[in-house]
Amino acid sequence: MRIRRAVTVLVLTAVAATACGKEGSPPVKGPQPEQLPKYQVNAGFQLEDSPTWRKAERRGHFVVGAKEDQPYLGEKDPASGLYSGFDIEIARMVSASLGLDPAKIAFRTIASANRETALQNGQIDYYVGTYTINDNRKKLVGFAGPYFMAGQDLLVRTDEEDIKGPEDLAGKRVCSASGSTPYQRIQADYPKADLVAYDTYSICVDNLLTYQVDAVTTDNAILTGYAAKAPDELKVVGKPFSEEPYGIGVPRSDNALRFAIDDALLANEKNGNWKKAYDATLGLSGVPAPKPPPIDRYPAS
Ligand code: GLU
Repeated sequence: MRIRRAVTVLVLTAVAATACGKEGSPPVKGPQPEQLPKYQVNAGFQLEDSPTWRKAERRGHFVVGAKEDQPYLGEKDPASGLYSGFDIEIARMVSASLGLDPAKIAFRTIASANRETALQNGQIDYYVGTYTINDNRKKLVGFAGPYFMAGQDLLVRTDEEDIKGPEDLAGKRVCSASGSTPYQRIQADYPKADLVAYDTYSICVDNLLTYQVDAVTTDNAILTGYAAKAPDELKVVGKPFSEEPYGIGVPRSDNALRFAIDDALLANEKNGNWKKAYDATLGLSGVPAPKPPPIDRYPAS
């Protein structure tokens, strides 16, 4: 009974993010479109040095890679096909600063394991989806930002008492996404955990709710979203045990695009759009807006 109820709660909240929770639980808040910033298109903007920008300009819009199942960060409404969340707003503010209408962005859902290939083969112009900047990935793609700092954490069922941190994972079934940094960290630093991987975190969460796994691990920003949508069933435990600076992925050789996105992020942090977007999206999971981390405008190589 408990399991069925839990799954139902998640499914319902995914379908209708504004639906109320069960009696006694706080109302589940969905994205608040009226609170979102309106991004002014930077008319006349030119970036001739960027092949990605030139192609997008001819096309009339950007094609952006994102996630579709991460509450408050990147979510796709199954009925309308519309994307919402903090990462989606970051993608929109960048598009406007680069002179292209944010309302026309074509979003493509790309899983963690496929991001580098999607950027390398030109399937997307840039990627905004809880994408940690690190040196290994920098060999394959470029990163603007960071625009947010997350940290790896653990999600368990509310009836779980044994797991309080990564050192308690020995012999436990732990789920994460293929190709993600949290997966790699558990594999390297906590080899006694019984680690399983799926394409997405929402499959991991379904497995957690149905007692197929004991914990889900990824960034706290992602996990607090799932917990906020099913507070009776799920909780985030312990303290973050890594640093995950979120960047915007771009094709590796397109430095002009990377630097222009760095400028766009900075401008939107200064004019208040960043905070306003955060408050209307990720802020709804209960964590007040932090200060954005400093942009790392690393030299072209
Ligand atoms: N930030 C981590 C990563 O980029 C985990 C989240 C994700 O898979 O998108 O791998």
